[in-house]
Amino acid sequence: MEKSQVDMSLYDRGMDMGASFIHHPDENNAIVKLHQQFNLPMLDWNNTRWAVVRENDSMPYNQARVDAASAKVDKAFEAVLNLSSTLQRDVSVYTALRHLHQYQLIDDPLSQTFVAEQEFFYGSTINYLSAKYLFDGYMENEAPDTPDKIPAFGYTKMLDRIIQSSPDDTPLNILLDHEVTEVNVQEDKRVIIKCRNGQIYEADAVIVTLPLGVLKANDVKFTPDLSTKKKGAIKRVGFGTINKFALEFSHRFWSKDTQQMTVAPQDIADRGKFSILITFHTVANKPVVMTYAVSQFGEDSEMLSDKELKDIGNQAC
Ligand SMILES: Cc1cc2nc3c(=O)[nH]c(=O)nc-3n(C[C@H](O)[C@H](O)[C@H](O)COP(=O)(O)OP(=O)(O)OC[C@H]3O[C@@H](n4cnc5c(N)ncnc54)[C@H](O)[C@@H]3O)c2cc1C
Repeated sequence: MEKSQVDMSLYDRGMDMGASFIHHPDENNAIVKLHQQFNLPMLDWNNTRWAVVRENDSMPYNQARVDAASAKVDKAFEAVLNLSSTLQRDVSVYTALRHLHQYQLIDDPLSQTFVAEQEFFYGSTINYLSAKYLFDGYMENEAPDTPDKIPAFGYTKMLDRIIQSSPDDTPLNILLDHEVTEVNVQEDKRVIIKCRNGQIYEADAVIVTLPLGVLKANDVKFTPDLSTKKKGAIKRVGFGTINKFALEFSHRFWSKDTQQMTVAPQDIADRGKFSILITFHTVANKPVVMTYAVSQFGEDSEMLSDKELKDIGNQAC
């Protein structure tokens, strides 16, 4: 539940530290169904209501230039998608863009903002993203006719309700601070689970939902060992780093209806530094925006102190 923790320090409803959005919230979406079942309110979020705050300091924002930059980046990614199936050997999206002579066309600060947006959706920088296995699934899922929703009180409320609502009215027993170190399947199929704090549990079955990074680091010993197929997949699949921040302003400088803003970086090296701003005034009842460290900055931000991050946020916005 790590990415479903809520930080209550900024506003009453609390900000989810991980997921905030319910994507593709149609009637088949399990998260939507749970919110309805528990009578938990969801807010509408329409990602088409966006504005560019600043293209750069010397050039005023111009909608035509913004649209052209966004279209150029879409076209460049489409070219990579078309190349994907013909690739014998995997290369990064960055290499593919260069090979296709597309990167040169999007090598300016405004276009790089939209590259950062793609990296945000894919969850990694184009230097690490696979060109061979690039998919456009998220685009289908982000159809404009199904705008995202936001759990009004954060994802944690839903988890609280799940914990409280087991069929026999006994709250689910969630054990915090129990880092699993071993999952041991016995000959009689019973499973022994060992934790770093010395606790040992026995179960009929386990469902393992460990993050990929933990599996890659071999932090948990499985007996018998995981299959070669599973180990191969764990080795091959990668992931990137995205960090999320909330910025509170002295007043709301965006219109009431604006739900996403974009700040183009001054320098292309700053791509991903808080360039995507999601307005949260309707959720927070305060002039708050949610922003992300993506691209290479996603990774770099892990090493920075709160003060350094605050300074970068102030400069970027
Ligand atoms: C900044 C950010 C924003 C996001 N925004 C959205 C969004 O708006 N909408 C959306 O749908 N998704 C979003 N996501 C993605 C979403 O958070 C993840 O897809 C989701 O959390 C994955 O759930 P999970 O249970 O697989 O992994 P996790 O949420 O990572 O949970 C894994 C759990 O395993 C625990 N664990 C690790 N090792 C051990 C061990 N040895 N023993 C016991 N427990 C262990 C961890 O502490 C953690 O609690 C976002 C992610 C991030 C990082």
